[in-house]
Amino acid sequence: MKHYLYPDDYISSIYDADFTALAKEGYRGVIFDIDNTLVPHNAPADERAKAFFSYLKENGFSSLLLSNNKEPRVKSFKEDAGATAYIYKANKPSTAGYKRAMEILGTTPETTLFVGDQIFTDIWGANRAGIRTIMVRPVLKWKEEIQIIAKRCLEAFVLLGYKVYVLTGGAVKKVPLKKGMQK
Ligand SMILES: [Mg+2]
Repeated sequence: MKHYLYPDDYISSIYDADFTALAKEGYRGVIFDIDNTLVPHNAPADERAKAFFSYLKENGFSSLLLSNNKEPRVKSFKEDAGATAYIYKANKPSTAGYKRAMEILGTTPETTLFVGDQIFTDIWGANRAGIRTIMVRPVLKWKEEIQIIAKRCLEAFVLLGYKVYVLTGGAVKKVPLKKGMQK
């Protein structure tokens, strides 16, 4: 049985993932956390993020930004980056936002990927919504708000458990990486 706190895979950066290969696996939609998943907390969309969303489109993906942050932040990031849609104040880890996201994308749990950097909000919610989860290392880990740093300490314990889980043959769905990239 899938462990709801554990991601299906944990990689350094989503920018390393091979979405041409993921499209061949049948995936059509990607739901993203923004802060520390795509850019540092509250940072605008940079050139790397813009190029990445073009790359997703070229590979047939629709994308949705699912953020607990306020509308101005989420909306402007969506417009600058060129994502398909957004949901602000998503109340993650509630599963409602993830389900609404799939409705907007017109996808199902089988054709949707979720990408985020936090276990207790991002991953826990997406797992319960039945979506394949990709956890990434925070883009900029220690420039975060104090309540997030506190959660990171708890997260470190869960990640330790996850490492043991993976090493002892736990269920993992490896994310295909672009050539030359490794974890
Ligand atoms: Mg985040």
